[in-house]
Amino acid sequence: MTTLTGKNSIAGNWSAEGTQTFTSVDPRTRQPGKVQFHNATASEIDRAVSAAAEAFRQTRHYPASRLADFLDTAAAEIEKLRDELIEMADYETALGSTRLTGELTRTTNQLKAFGNLLREGSYVEAIIDTALPDRQPLPRPDIRRMLIPIGPVAVFSASNFPFAFATAGGDTASAFAAGCPVIVKGHPGHPATTELFTAALNNAINISGFPAGFFSMVQGDSVEVGQTLVKHPLLEAVGFTGSLRGGRAIYDTAAQRPRPIPVYAEMGSINPVVIMPGSVEARGDALIDALAASATLGAGQYCTNPGLVLMLDSPDTDKFIQRYTEAMTAREPQVMLNAAIESGLARTVEQTVRSGGVDLLAGGETVTGGGFCYAHTVMKADSAAFRSNPQLHHEHFGPVTLFVTCASLDDMRLTLESIEGQLTGTIHGEDDEIEDARPLLQALTERVGRLIWNGVPTGVEVSHAQQHGGPYPATTAPWSTSVGMMAIKRFMRPVAYQNIPPALLPDALKNENPLNILRIVNSEYTREPIKP
Ligand code: NAP
Repeated sequence: MTTLTGKNSIAGNWSAEGTQTFTSVDPRTRQPGKVQFHNATASEIDRAVSAAAEAFRQTRHYPASRLADFLDTAAAEIEKLRDELIEMADYETALGSTRLTGELTRTTNQLKAFGNLLREGSYVEAIIDTALPDRQPLPRPDIRRMLIPIGPVAVFSASNFPFAFATAGGDTASAFAAGCPVIVKGHPGHPATTELFTAALNNAINISGFPAGFFSMVQGDSVEVGQTLVKHPLLEAVGFTGSLRGGRAIYDTAAQRPRPIPVYAEMGSINPVVIMPGSVEARGDALIDALAASATLGAGQYCTNPGLVLMLDSPDTDKFIQRYTEAMTAREPQVMLNAAIESGLARTVEQTVRSGGVDLLAGGETVTGGGFCYAHTVMKADSAAFRSNPQLHHEHFGPVTLFVTCASLDDMRLTLESIEGQLTGTIHGEDDEIEDARPLLQALTERVGRLIWNGVPTGVEVSHAQQHGGPYPATTAPWSTSVGMMAIKRFMRPVAYQNIPPALLPDALKNENPLNILRIVNSEYTREPIKP
């Protein structure tokens, strides 16, 4: 077993300058762990970002194949710690070894998938408009555009995904793939897991001969650490997964810097689900099982949790909601991640119930006597109450479902149009309801990042076509995704080379196309070289 240091990792060196410390907390017993983790000091953060900027002078020139090999090495080093990581993360998060086993595989596969993307090479989006010297009235210059890495990136680990959205998760993997050094701000909910991942990534850096500043990790349980990091003048971008409050605060800090930088924050979502009347009749029981399983998965602590369900007001809907409430109550509540998430959920549900116009059908209370735990909760409101009460639009981060009953499909469309930006939107409908669903799908399309037909929003495939994002407040960057291969684009920026001598052009833009990548040349997609 690895012996934990409780220290920060600054460009490969373990460091503990500060006196402020915190520990892991076992969510099952609420007891603190023994290892003291040190909040990073301003000087440690400065050293980490400065080393990252220094490392970037080298890594910005690395060929994609070298970055790809590094990602494979990182995946292999993480795999060597697999059992230890799962045991430690289970102790710190109570997410269970089955879930964590799958999440670790997803995490290492994600690193390797970015490696494959790099080896293929077309991700740099090379576009070439060759010169037209005889064009009238003015000649056209030779213009060649591609994406280049943006520079040092700060990554804020998520509490609810200790592997896939944490130290070596999607943000880190996509920034590394772009060629960008990363400084991870570990989540205080799983500091020991963060340290184990750090050891694996430091090994990968040593093995690959990368500059040590390519990766640093700072721990912290106070907002100062994150704030100091985001304000650092040499930082170029931020990846974040967490609360709307935290994400917005970091976004505002980044915007107020003398030189603002982009913040890719993935925040709250209530993930509306529409159930058409035909589906209630055709497969109501199966839908109840699937929806309750999705709403309680991982104690409901998923950003894609289906928190809001819209149905037509009818006796069949009443029966559906009653059976759903019974199904939720019959399921055993699970241990939640930490005290803040448990108390935050209790506070939000209490505010919602008190705000009026909503019936509490089940749950609505903390489960006492064991770990952090909240009862499976079902609430119901009508569309008028939902539309007029902003509190009902808030994320209830946990095993909570709010049903909203609508007088008609048109009323349902208006209700969907009252919702802010979301990660996902789902419709359950039968074949003969497709035309009725069209305006509802359109209303969802305008405010979500991913549309789902007859499925559940939890379970986000890591693939090229994936879109995990959405309009604010789901994210601060609706044009981007934090899951899937396109996540790399967040940490790259386009540069156009105008009339630049061929010897000075990057390989991706050379006439010969030595990387054999897909390019747009004079408006056509091609891998062909350009004839002089
Ligand atoms: P969080 O409070 O937003 O914290 C996430 C990270 O951001 C932590 O490292 C935290 O550092 C840092 N941070 C928070 N506020 C900051 C600020 N003002 N300035 C600088 N750094 C800041 O999220 P969480 O701890 O994971 O969970 C809290 C709530 O977030 C949950 O109850 C839930 O509502 C929501 N959440 C949503 C999602 C989602 O995907 N939608 C995922 C997870 C959580 P410190 O802890 O050191 O301050």
